[in-house]
Amino acid sequence: MKERYSRQSLSAEYTGRMKGGRGAVREARERILVVDDDHGILDSFDAMFGEEYPLVLMDRGRDAQKKLSEESFGLLFLDIKMPDLNGLELLRWIQARNLETKVVIITALPQASYEEIAHQCGAFRYVKKPFDVDELEDIARIVLH
Ligand SMILES: [Mg+2]
Repeated sequence: MKERYSRQSLSAEYTGRMKGGRGAVREARERILVVDDDHGILDSFDAMFGEEYPLVLMDRGRDAQKKLSEESFGLLFLDIKMPDLNGLELLRWIQARNLETKVVIITALPQASYEEIAHQCGAFRYVKKPFDVDELEDIARIVLH
C-alpha cells in the first residue's frame, strides 16, 4: 500500500496513488513515512519498502507536518534540507507533541552540529547520504517488527 503526495508544481508526478500487496494487512504502527524534496530519494525508498510496508512518500515538510497531525506512522525517514520546513524543525515539532513515530534523519549535510541537534531532539538514527540500503532495511526491521 503506497501513497504519494506533492505539490503539483513539481515536474515529477507524485499523485497519491496507492498500491496493494502485503502492506495492506499491516497495521498503522507499521506504516512508513518518507519526507524528502529529492524525488530520486523517494523513488529509492519506494523500491526498498513499497512492496513490504504501507508507505507514504512526501516532498514537502509542511505537508508532512499536516499528515503527521492526522495519521500515525511507526517510522519516519526525514531529510533535513527542504524548501519550506526543514527536517530539524519538523523533528522538534514531533518531539514537542510526543508522537510515537521513530524518526531517522537522512541527510547529505556534513555538519556534526546537525547530528547533535537531531539526537537532542529525539532522533532514533542519523544516516548520511548516500545511504546504505541494508542499513535502512535493518532499521525498518528493528522499529516495525
Ligand atoms: Mg533535501
